[in-house]
Amino acid sequence: MTTTTSSPNAAALAAALPELREAYAALQAKGLKLDLTRGKPSAEQLDLSNPMLALPGDRFRAEAGTDVRNYGGLDGLAELRAMFAELLDVPVEQLLAGGNASLTLMYDTVVWAMLFGFPESPASWSREETVRWICAVPGYDRHFAVCEELGIEMITVPMTQDGPDAEAVAQLVAADPTIKGMWVVPTYANPDGSVVSDAVARALVAMPTAAPDFRILWDNAYALHHLTDAETRTAPAIQLAAEAGNPDRVIMYASTSKITWAGAGVSFLASSPSNVAWFKKHLAKASIGPDKVNHLRHAMFFGSADGVREHMRRHREILAPKFEAVTAILAERLGEYEVGRWTDPRGGYFVSLDVLPGTAARVVTLAKEAGIALTPAGATFPYGKDPEDKNIRLAPSMPPLDEVTAAMDGVATCVLLAAAEALAE
Ligand code: PMP
Repeated sequence: MTTTTSSPNAAALAAALPELREAYAALQAKGLKLDLTRGKPSAEQLDLSNPMLALPGDRFRAEAGTDVRNYGGLDGLAELRAMFAELLDVPVEQLLAGGNASLTLMYDTVVWAMLFGFPESPASWSREETVRWICAVPGYDRHFAVCEELGIEMITVPMTQDGPDAEAVAQLVAADPTIKGMWVVPTYANPDGSVVSDAVARALVAMPTAAPDFRILWDNAYALHHLTDAETRTAPAIQLAAEAGNPDRVIMYASTSKITWAGAGVSFLASSPSNVAWFKKHLAKASIGPDKVNHLRHAMFFGSADGVREHMRRHREILAPKFEAVTAILAERLGEYEVGRWTDPRGGYFVSLDVLPGTAARVVTLAKEAGIALTPAGATFPYGKDPEDKNIRLAPSMPPLDEVTAAMDGVATCVLLAAAEALAE
């Protein structure tokens, strides 16, 4: 990941204020209706998986001979699990395939910890007076929403280019037994695109924790979602945790939401044998088995782990030009005035833009009033509160390239105008 940084060139911007007001009025006059809010795949990407609409055809037997139309098979279809065990670098016996949302698996994990605790928990978490959780910022708003809904207090640590600030995390968890876990998006994090280095992964799995039942929810949502030739391998956290003597520390999640269909994909959970048994024990009360017809459809469509890798290269062909457009426009429009700092991700679904502190909410409002929907300012922080009011998450995957270009040009005008207004005050 590279970033462009600098301090605002106040004099040049202040001088440009009248021009920027005109540019903004012209932007508003265009009557745009553009949306960069959420990291959804585009229709063109969804089309890549259309052969699945005709699968599994009249086939309904798994390789093992079982009838996928019937109840059972709580672990998920063996052949699909084998394929994704290879891709996610975990032993197949420790990998479950589930329904269409990995977010549900994460939510269930935390809810069941609240209701029942983990085997080594002194009490179920809901019986504890306070439960705290570490959130690296900027981060994923839906992770924060899970904590908020369940009354878990969020403590922030900074993100670095190598993932969460491991030293800050280690200090916090060593001292405070109420800190029960943390979110990590190890590869191409939402929103800053950072990748957890092996050193950070090793530090997180080995650090002493005051809570005996501390868990890292290792959300590998973008494990295979490369935007360049460098197909980054995720640090093998489950294996590293076992080697460090903390085998139950890491629970990994992934899904095909951005591989096949966001609304009809397959989710995965992997962890130590003990955590998988714990999860299955509770899952077995909630379900007799997952949608194995969908599992079979996916297994037939991909054929092999290489089939998935090949399919992801087709996504990259569609996505990479959109990301290139975003970073090129930001450099061209903001570079001169030196307001802003943005990521140039090597994968994932987002560009993280830091504008002049104190102006992010204003930028989002200006954009909205010009017909460009952006993720609300603050969304990348717990409770929706960005203490510096500077981070904006850009999601260029969904609109066609010409709309991404038009939207980003408009966003750049809003960033400059908000900065010029603030500096002129
Ligand atoms: N984790 C992260 C980091 C995400 O960005 C997203 C989608 N925006 C999800 C999870 C959602 O995954 P799923 O569709 O499997 O529930």
